[in-house]
Amino acid sequence: MKIFFFLSLLFVSQVVSAQSVWQSKTSSWLTISPEQRKECFTLNDNLKKYLDKARNELTSTKEVLALAKSKGFKEFTEPSQVKPGAKLWINNRDRAVALVVVGSNQMITGSRLIATHHDSPRIDIKARPLYDASGYGMLQTIFYGGIKKYHWANIPLMLIGRVDTKDGKTIEVSIGDDPDEPVLIIPDAAPHADAPLRTRVYTGVFEGEELDPIVGSIPSAKGNITSQVMATLTEQFGITEEDLVSAELNLVPATSPRDVGLDKALTAAYGQDDRLCSFVAVNSILGLSAQPTFTSIAYLTDNEETGSINNTGAQSSFLSSLYGRLTEAELGTKYTDNETRKALHNAQVISADVNDGINPLFPNLSEASNAARLGFGVAIKRYGRSFDANSEFTARIRKVLDDNTIPWQTASYKVESGGGGTIGGFMSKEDMEVIDIGIPILSMHSTYEVSSKVDVWNLNKFFTAFYLLGK
Ligand SMILES: [Zn+2]
Repeated sequence: MKIFFFLSLLFVSQVVSAQSVWQSKTSSWLTISPEQRKECFTLNDNLKKYLDKARNELTSTKEVLALAKSKGFKEFTEPSQVKPGAKLWINNRDRAVALVVVGSNQMITGSRLIATHHDSPRIDIKARPLYDASGYGMLQTIFYGGIKKYHWANIPLMLIGRVDTKDGKTIEVSIGDDPDEPVLIIPDAAPHADAPLRTRVYTGVFEGEELDPIVGSIPSAKGNITSQVMATLTEQFGITEEDLVSAELNLVPATSPRDVGLDKALTAAYGQDDRLCSFVAVNSILGLSAQPTFTSIAYLTDNEETGSINNTGAQSSFLSSLYGRLTEAELGTKYTDNETRKALHNAQVISADVNDGINPLFPNLSEASNAARLGFGVAIKRYGRSFDANSEFTARIRKVLDDNTIPWQTASYKVESGGGGTIGGFMSKEDMEVIDIGIPILSMHSTYEVSSKVDVWNLNKFFTAFYLLGK
């Protein structure tokens, strides 16, 4: 009898273990109530509104500051502002931004930081951009970040950014955002005439120097079009051709975010890498309903797509300086630089960025058992071979996810098939405890990236829980 009982148990356990725990995971859509689904769609409507306005780090910073101010956040200027419950913003040169909710415990005992980047792959305008070609005025460009160049042909592009003049003025440029404004187009060759191009390889369908948009086609009396274009720019923005040297002008898709699928479960928009995580990091810190034990910080960085360089990128010492300012404000005369190092050492950091999801048309590009699927929750990235969280911090984050019943999965690339980097390593270098987290998207680094609304909702739940995490 005893033996039989033992054998039958063994049999049952073998049947159960035939299916891995990962195979038994269901779509997150099946785990939410009708009420939660409504909340989820509202959150994603707000994401779409933000993405429609925030199309580079400059416009994102502006949107984030407007949202923060509307929720009572104040610019951090004085040490006396750093008191438990204080809500502060810090603008780093209009390209990076941090939002802080001061915790009841001091920074040296720990903090909860969610770091993202709000720049996205795009095409930048060169310093001497204007030229005439075959009866058109054109702009010389240089692409920014890892793009598939052919994506950028034949789509409406807007020109946005800033021009700084010698007399200290900053002129904001935006052409093509309003439907009444013109857009720019990079013209592809017609299939009727492209036989000499048809043997080009996948990565060379367009060459980098071919990514130039048409910017005008009405000539001056002398037959020159660029002088006409420059005259229009001078009239509209008061700038000269030499002012284009001290400018940051970007070409970005002029498309608006839209729902995808008959069930509207997905969102398509330009720049979800990584303004999606940026929005959620901001939305969740603005919505904190309780006073956090540890200081919560949302930190949106620039230049990730080109290596997190410059004084507004994640490699900048801006963040450690901010930790220094907050720590000094709390400790007053007892402060030494060592205390900043302690604050950094005790910080817990989510490096949040989207990742590639399994694509239904190209499933073999993923190693399915370790790849992330849209609609299956927050992804813990185990990329290996570069920055990676240690196992104990990964275990701690698993507990936060499970304690808050947030569906989660993992994401690793197929070996020798590709890969991706994050800003996590730069904060790890500062002796902070960091983990890479994201949600999967489709068409990553394209002009119209696709995310799952339920994943965005779960990411928001997770970020909120992380900010409020006690010991
Ligand atoms: Zn990214």
